[in-house]
Amino acid sequence: MMERLAIVVPCYNEEEALPGTVEQLSDLIAALVQNGKIASDSYLLFVNDGSTDGTWHLLEEAFERNPHVCALRLTGNVGQQNALFAGLSAVCGRCDMAVSIDADLQDDIGVMEEMIDLFHDGADVVYGVRRERKTDSFFKRATAHLFYKVMAWLDTGTVYNHAEYRLMSARVLEELMRYPERNLFVRGLVPLIGYRSEKVYYARKSRTAGKSKYPLGKMLATAFEGITSLSSRPITMLVALGAAMLVCTFMALMGMLLSFLRGGAVPGWLSIMASVWLLGGLQLVAIGVVGAYIGRTYLEVKRRPRYHIDCFLSHDP
Ligand code: UDP
Ligand code: MG
Repeated sequence: MMERLAIVVPCYNEEEALPGTVEQLSDLIAALVQNGKIASDSYLLFVNDGSTDGTWHLLEEAFERNPHVCALRLTGNVGQQNALFAGLSAVCGRCDMAVSIDADLQDDIGVMEEMIDLFHDGADVVYGVRRERKTDSFFKRATAHLFYKVMAWLDTGTVYNHAEYRLMSARVLEELMRYPERNLFVRGLVPLIGYRSEKVYYARKSRTAGKSKYPLGKMLATAFEGITSLSSRPITMLVALGAAMLVCTFMALMGMLLSFLRGGAVPGWLSIMASVWLLGGLQLVAIGVVGAYIGRTYLEVKRRPRYHIDCFLSHDP
């Protein structure tokens, strides 16, 4: 029997990109069904992550006219990770494999067939890896590189240059659902599950339409969440303050050292102030980091739901 595929797409204010995305992905499903790669009841699940534009309206329309389209509406914006998790748990038990992908199709849907072939060859997870990112700005490339390096350095087991484009088998989905944490970072969890994995490589494209939903601040926030937690903002500010103090003091100390080496006089009060500030800065950073972990514990123990479902449009009986 053919295996059923579900493609999960989180959407936040994607009205510009969506029409093209729905069309391309349903064409892809039709082609894969035609080639005998997947079952004919395979489908797309779009998760509306509290969009404030016409995204939901477009999804309702697509659901009405396209038997491959399902849509899940969350009550508010819970962020890409939670929206993705909501989608994956909705398809869990309703498919044999699931592929997650961003709504802007920056990730090459052309390699999905290869992913499915690898699944048929016995892989439980297939990671989509960006081979090159020429279309990203220098800044995005540099920060992404730094992020993946830090993740590797921290031994998180994440796959370099892999974001959320991946195929997971039904049993991986089931195992994933056993992770109860509030501070979600899905791409960090999947490698922990440990089933056999493969990779496919592709070139990352630029957005088909619409703007990135990740301005610098949001990008940094996601990175911080991935590395430590989604800590409460005062603690983050504490860390930033401490770090700024450290940099200033470090520069002052360097200046003094230089003038001392050149034989100049070092005013006593400045050197004392500098070391006091240095220590103060260090302490703030340390408290901030400890606080980040306490904040994380606080969010975890509350056991709040990660999202709320407003409505689920599905063609399944
Ligand atoms: N997204 C979401 N909730 C958010 C922000 C983003 O569901 O709060 C979705 C967005 O619609 C897209 C995916 O997450 O499908 C990735 O966002 P984007 O393409 O803007 O990120 P970038 O590629 O710029 O890193
Ligand atoms: Mg994108």
